[in-house]
Amino acid sequence: MEPYASMSKEELLEERKKVKAVYKEYQNSELHLDMSRGKPSTAQLDLSMGMMDVLSSDADLRCEDGTDCRNYGVLDGIHEAKVLLGDMIECNPDNIIIYGNSSLNVMYDTISRSMTHGVMGSTPWCKLDKVKFLCPVPGYDRHFAITEHFGIEMINIPMHSTGPDMDMVEQLVSSDASIKGIWCTPKYSNPTGITYSDETVRRFARLKPAAPDFRIYWDNAYGVHHLYDMDQDNLIEILAECKRAGNPDMVYKFASTSKISFPGSGVACIATSLNNLEDIKKQLKVQTIGHDKVNELRHVRFFQDIHGIYEHMMKHADIMRPKFELILNRLDEEITGLEIGKWYTPKGGYFICFEALEGCAKKIVSRCKKAGVQMTPAGAPFPYGKDPHDSVIRIAPSYPSMEDLRMAVEVFIVCVKLVSIDKLLEEME
Ligand code: PMP
Repeated sequence: MEPYASMSKEELLEERKKVKAVYKEYQNSELHLDMSRGKPSTAQLDLSMGMMDVLSSDADLRCEDGTDCRNYGVLDGIHEAKVLLGDMIECNPDNIIIYGNSSLNVMYDTISRSMTHGVMGSTPWCKLDKVKFLCPVPGYDRHFAITEHFGIEMINIPMHSTGPDMDMVEQLVSSDASIKGIWCTPKYSNPTGITYSDETVRRFARLKPAAPDFRIYWDNAYGVHHLYDMDQDNLIEILAECKRAGNPDMVYKFASTSKISFPGSGVACIATSLNNLEDIKKQLKVQTIGHDKVNELRHVRFFQDIHGIYEHMMKHADIMRPKFELILNRLDEEITGLEIGKWYTPKGGYFICFEALEGCAKKIVSRCKKAGVQMTPAGAPFPYGKDPHDSVIRIAPSYPSMEDLRMAVEVFIVCVKLVSIDKLLEEME
């Protein structure tokens, strides 16, 4: 396969004619396909239906210490849920607060509390002239939406195959006290799929922030979301590493069972140092009497222990793996040789991140839409929705059926080809 960039104008025009004809065919097929949403498929949700049976009307809803989970109480979560989620995120149960159904909600609360009340006695951010956050890009749009909502200035940090550009992170964090945090999705990252290298995590733990209230927002949303049983990414546990490096209070770690059990009806948590936990609880006890202990118990009784979660995730993997492989194989067969796009091959998570030629992402997404395939809007994985190179497109393979996905990826490939040819032809003008 010859790279498009080395073709003559005539050859490109010829190729365009062929690709356009295929595109027209798709356009006439009235497709309604969706690769935009990072949601589990129905088959994945079905895996957790047993959870509906573990708490029947005659079940004993007391937890291990005798607490009746049907009643008020237990601000920070029942112990057995802390053990289960602690094992899942490799943290001591004593360092955990179990929350409600959403980790994003916990992240929002964490920023909100820092704005109004500060972090461990420091000046509330709302009283400061400027508050900034570092945002590795591409990243998770909802992280960026939270910081944007609070008027926090966001600074893009390029992502490499090892994680964020740590030279830049170290330099900025140590020199600017208005930088209060960094958003991280360290494992099977949304959307690049990469996992931070050992060196990256070690450098994170050894940061020397100018701001004493600087925190790493470590969103371990995809910690156990492997695609393979034997070929998995490994991530150094950040709390322990920060403690070893003499920075025990520098990290908030977030996680939930959203894409393990039911999104929106899972269990979320934060793990952090005892000092941070104490600070958080001062607010939490005003905010709520306690979260949904019945749901915590339901999760514990269904999964039993970390092995139960692991086995369950392998069932998810059996559904997700063929979808990822289908897309990755087709991209490889159709795009690699043409040199009109790059992507990383993830070993887990929910996304494939396609990097098109500069200036092409919006046009590709729009072409896809016109042919009946919905993609995540171009620019979404960047602060303020602005991709400086207009090149990143997030592909979410989880929700559609294999049959739909087979068609959707073909449409996507044709759109990538068409838009790339147009760009190259334009450059020849
Ligand atoms: N963090 C990341 C990186 C995510 O991709 C998602 C879900 N798309 C969430 C958090 C949301 O998690 P939750 O359902 O626990 O709010």
